[in-house]
Amino acid sequence: VGTTVHLQAPRLKKLLADLFTAYGCSAAEAVAVGEHLVEADMRGHPSHGVGLVPIYVSNLANGEVVANQVVQRVPLDSDFMLFDGQRGFGQSVGIQVVKEIIARTAANGSAIFGLRNVHHLGRIGDYGERLAGAGIASVMFVNTVSRPIVAPYGGSEARMGTNPVCITIPRPASAPVVLDFATSAMAVGKCRVAIENEQNVPPGHLLDAAGNPTTDPRVLYEQPQGALLAMGGHKGSGLNLICELLSASISGLTMPDARPKSGSAINNLVGMAFRVPVVPEADEHLEAALEYFVTTRPGPDVQAVLLPGDPETRTYEQHASAGIPLASESWEKIVRIGTQAGLAREDMEAAQID
Ligand code: NAD
Repeated sequence: VGTTVHLQAPRLKKLLADLFTAYGCSAAEAVAVGEHLVEADMRGHPSHGVGLVPIYVSNLANGEVVANQVVQRVPLDSDFMLFDGQRGFGQSVGIQVVKEIIARTAANGSAIFGLRNVHHLGRIGDYGERLAGAGIASVMFVNTVSRPIVAPYGGSEARMGTNPVCITIPRPASAPVVLDFATSAMAVGKCRVAIENEQNVPPGHLLDAAGNPTTDPRVLYEQPQGALLAMGGHKGSGLNLICELLSASISGLTMPDARPKSGSAINNLVGMAFRVPVVPEADEHLEAALEYFVTTRPGPDVQAVLLPGDPETRTYEQHASAGIPLASESWEKIVRIGTQAGLAREDMEAAQID
């Protein structure tokens, strides 16, 4: 197992804001990207956390992501709100789209929307949570276009992206229900993190290049390349495909047209949002359904039955006191990239708790 450092979230956010500003982002965009990455780590998703900084910075240099893009509305003769992300940072374009959805939902009660051609959106739950904060439930299907990573059910070669789905339901007096996952057996970034920590992944997630089961995450980073399985067998594989097809329906990029030059990912998203409660008495029904769900007797070795979103809230609390764990190797890369842009090493290292 590799070594780990622990980092303080507020200092890390400030440091990343300075770093992305030094690489050409506006102050607002640099803050948005930095906050999103740190918040993903805080919620226990290091696959979508600050470990992505080296990839994002190299994508700025090679033009796969373009700084300071303003989302464009694609004119359509329908109520469907379609946006083009102009290859901008997902973390900043995504916030712009969320604002539009909130405005439409305030006016009409609901919105159907699509966003195409945006650089990696990161943790999709971030956008669902923003909508939930405005009293809006949402369902989002996303395709992830990079190199092929996921084998369709029954196949032994990678064809698809890890295509996340995110469904978020606000609650009147508690944190929202946030169901947010890759439709692959695990997010590919979790394989990167496993390699950084010199670990294998659990059985049942990966195939090697010959199509045989393996627990070695390096098969995704070697040639010939292995593949991640879809989550949940044929059902998850079908959901993975649907994300791709919904993206095709808005003329977003799909895998046959992928020309991945680097580790970059382009996302396309189709979703719906509606203000809740739809009818006043619905809040009570929602709470009753949740209460009934979690009060099942826990199984052997299970401490508590959780709602989707609960594990992230719990991890957030732990990391707020103990700091964000990050592989030393990953931290060292970030410090190097920062110092190359003129940030002082000692200022950066001040984010370290140990
Ligand atoms: P995961 O397997 O950790 O599943 C997370 C979901 O399951 C959450 O909703 C969580 O609350 C819920 N959950 C986990 N344990 C639970 C339990 N014990 N009881 C009840 N609910 C539980 O997530 P993942 O598939 O590794 O995805 C991680 C992140 O990666 C997501 O935020 C996703 O949006 C993101 N992602 C992004 C892209 C992209 O292209 N932008 C691609 C793939 C994944």
